Amino acid sequence: MSLIELALPNIQRLAPYVPGKPIEELERELGITDILKLASNENPLGASQRARAAIDAALHALALYPDGSGFRLRQAIARRQGLSAEGVTLGNGSNDVLDLIARAYLGPGREAVFSEHAFAVYPIATQSVGADARVARAHGMDHPMPYGSDPQALADAVGPRTRVLFVANPNNPTGTWIGREALRALLDAVPAHVLVVVDEAYTDYVEDPDFPDAAAWLPDYPNLIVTRTFSKIHGLAALRVGYALSHPSVADALNRVRQPFNVNTLALIAAEAALEDTEHLQRSRELNTRGLAQLKAAFAERGLGYIPSVANFLTVDVARPAQPVFEALLREGVIVRPVANYGLPNHLRVTIGRAQENARFLTALDKVLGL
Ligand SMILES: *Cc1c(COP(=O)(O)O)cnc(C)c1O
Repeated sequence: MSLIELALPNIQRLAPYVPGKPIEELERELGITDILKLASNENPLGASQRARAAIDAALHALALYPDGSGFRLRQAIARRQGLSAEGVTLGNGSNDVLDLIARAYLGPGREAVFSEHAFAVYPIATQSVGADARVARAHGMDHPMPYGSDPQALADAVGPRTRVLFVANPNNPTGTWIGREALRALLDAVPAHVLVVVDEAYTDYVEDPDFPDAAAWLPDYPNLIVTRTFSKIHGLAALRVGYALSHPSVADALNRVRQPFNVNTLALIAAEAALEDTEHLQRSRELNTRGLAQLKAAFAERGLGYIPSVANFLTVDVARPAQPVFEALLREGVIVRPVANYGLPNHLRVTIGRAQENARFLTALDKVLGL
C-alpha cells in the first residue's frame, strides 16, 4: 500500500499546483546561465528601493516574533482604501488568504463556484478542505472576451450548497477581465449567503477606465471579499504577503483560522514601504503597458493569436501543442509558462518583461517556431 492512500480521499485526488520553473533549476538541468524567466508574472523592475531600505533597517529584529496582528500594515492598507483596519486580513501571500477563506467557509457538503480557465489555487483550496467545485463555462473562443469568465454563467452555477464564488479580475492565466457593470450585476445576482471573492492580484496594472475597483463596493455588499497581493506589481513575491478586504465579521472568521504569525516581519515592513512608493508603481505600470503593446504587435505580425489581457502577461496561441514549444524555449534559456493544465494546450503564458527581455523572448520564439 502506498502511504498516499492513508491521506484523505480528497487529498489523494488533489493535483498539486505547478509553479513556474525556477531559474536555478534550469541552470542545474542544462548547465547554462543568463536565463530569462517570464513565467511567474514577477515585476521585471524588481522591488521598490524603499522596500529594500525598510528591510535593511529591520534586520536587527530577526530574533523577535513578528507583530502577529500586522497592526501597522493593516492600518496603512485601510487608510489607502478608506476602510476600517478591522476589515483587513493579512496572508502569507494572497494564496494564504484564499486558503483561509476555504478553511473558514468551505468543507464537506459545501460548494465553491469558479470559472473554467480560472486561477489554479481555487480548485486546490476547495478540494483540500473536502468541498466540491462547480465550474462555470467560460466565454467561447469567438466571444469578444475569449476564454474569459462569464458573469452570467458564474451566477447560474450558484446552487443551494454554494458558499464561495471565486473570480479573478483580471483573470490568470487568461488576462481577461469583467467590466464595472457586469461585475456589479454578478454581485447583485448572487445570494447574500454566498461569499464573492474578487481576486485583484493584477488590478494595479489595469488602465482601462471601465475596470472596476471592487473594494469601493464593500460597504454595499457584506458578502464581498477583495484579495490583493504584494507579489506582482509591488515586486515582493519572495516575501509572501497579500491581504483580503472584507466586512469585519468575515475578517473575524478568517482570523480564527489564520496562523498567529503568518506574515513575517520583513514582509510586513517591506509591504508597508512598497504601498507608499507610488513612483515605483507608476514606473512598473508604464513599463508593462509598453511591453503589452510590444508583444501584441509582435504576435499580430507573426499571425499568432493571443487572449486579450490587461494584466502583466499575455497568453499566446502558438497554433500547435505548446509543451514542445515551451521545452524548446527552455533550451534557448527562456522560461515561459505552459497552460495545458488550465485547458489551454496550444497556449503559452508570457510575463511582460523589459523591452529587451521581450525582444529576446521573441527572437527565441521565432527560432523555435521556425518563423
Ligand atoms: C499571482 C496570483 C495571486 C497571488 O499570489 P501570492 O500568493 O500573493 O503570491 C493570486 N491570484 C492570482 C489570480 C494570481 O495570479
